[in-house]
Amino acid sequence: MINLKQFEVWFVTGSQHLYGPEVLKQVDKDSAQIAAALDNSASIPCKVIFKPVLTGPDAITKLCAEANTTADCIGLITWMHTFSPAKMWIAGLKLLTKPIVHLHTQFNRDIPWDTIDMDFMNLNQSAHGGREYGFILSRMRKDRKVVVGHWKEEAVQKKLAVWMRAAAAWHDWQGGRIARFGDNMREVAVTEGDKVEAQIRLGFSVSGYGVGDLVAKVKEVTDAESDALVKEYNEQYEVIRSEAKAIREAARIELGMRGFLEEGGFNAFTTTFEDLHGLVQLPGLAVQRLMADGYGFGAEGDWKTSALVRAMKVMAAGLKGGTSFMEDYTYHLDPARRMVLGAHMLEVCPSIAAGEVKLEVHPLGIGGKADPGRLVFNTATGYGVNVSILDMGNRFRLLVNPCDVVAPEADLPKLPVARVVWIPKPNLEIAAAAWIHAGGAHHTGFSMAITEEYLEDFAAMAGIECLLIDDNTTIREFKNEIRWNDVYYMIANSAF
Ligand code: MN
Repeated sequence: MINLKQFEVWFVTGSQHLYGPEVLKQVDKDSAQIAAALDNSASIPCKVIFKPVLTGPDAITKLCAEANTTADCIGLITWMHTFSPAKMWIAGLKLLTKPIVHLHTQFNRDIPWDTIDMDFMNLNQSAHGGREYGFILSRMRKDRKVVVGHWKEEAVQKKLAVWMRAAAAWHDWQGGRIARFGDNMREVAVTEGDKVEAQIRLGFSVSGYGVGDLVAKVKEVTDAESDALVKEYNEQYEVIRSEAKAIREAARIELGMRGFLEEGGFNAFTTTFEDLHGLVQLPGLAVQRLMADGYGFGAEGDWKTSALVRAMKVMAAGLKGGTSFMEDYTYHLDPARRMVLGAHMLEVCPSIAAGEVKLEVHPLGIGGKADPGRLVFNTATGYGVNVSILDMGNRFRLLVNPCDVVAPEADLPKLPVARVVWIPKPNLEIAAAAWIHAGGAHHTGFSMAITEEYLEDFAAMAGIECLLIDDNTTIREFKNEIRWNDVYYMIANSAF
């Protein structure tokens, strides 16, 4: 469902006519070589397209206008091989709607100490050309990533790759469609927000549907279709504690839901257990399998988290480790090892599973529906990150908290849902307090494939606030950051 190779990143080099045609030919040649190396690099997830060197304002403006209207162009890698007087960039940058990364590199890695002359110095001017270009971006308040180092270095290419994956997710949000089956869980605050503001700022739209619209699709599913899917379940999972009738119903819900989403061109959705009229079970298995195929999901009408999970899945496409909708459920408050058990009633994505995935049917304590099918599994251990997106009234806030995913202390034989146990950074005491001060939700996007760097790049592209809780966080400084940001966004917003 998610293919990052369809996307183009344009490799754009700035220069000027002052150097004469011979030098410009060399600049062009060097740039083409770097673009080709990036395009062929195993670290780089998208196509890198070389663009001939830019030497004047008209060419720059034309290129920016073309980037805006090229559907598969998700952003620009910009590099100043030489000096490129930055007033030439103003008109183009004013137009440009695609994200920028400033690659602050040099064609030659090392200074040729024995042979260096003024020709070499004039050709290799990134050290000051990059500063002139950086000034105009800062002067125009254009946020961008700055990557410093030699272009062949793996760490440099990996930083570009992170930015590209974030750009792909940002591109995916533009015109992205979220189906909201039913509305919000009635009295819940954090899952709500301004959907019109979200569409203006973030690009995706949220469309509400009566659950009856979904039920109609489920009713269209034939016995042959549901039997075929049940066969697939039996091949893929260890099916235990199940009755055939419940599993077949889960298959019908999956097929109906999948059909509805495909027909409507949706890439994310929400459900709510307070509105299941006409559905026999709460969709559990269906949601889990759709998430595994790349759909964003939020429970209880949580459209913001659904959009976030989708974005994180785009960023993570093809990487090791999964990405899921998640909820902070229960604590382990042993002072020696404070931990969180994350899960949801049913809807955890099997992309984060380690070991066996079991398909089980159990009663559900709330919702008053038939016993639903669900996949039950444990998770791999290692690095993870929890992310929340909030509507703060005057801005959207992304809240990011890396964690160590650890093994549960025992088997949890009676817990009938998929589960993750983690220790947040820097520890539960500080992380939970900071999270709560920031207004972070109980719902999150959880990933073991992407890091805070992806989310910081993504927030910068979206122009939204990004708060990070990590090993450097103290509550005193974190509260100050929130206070200062409150003032910043009041001023920044009044500029529109
Ligand atoms: Mn929930």
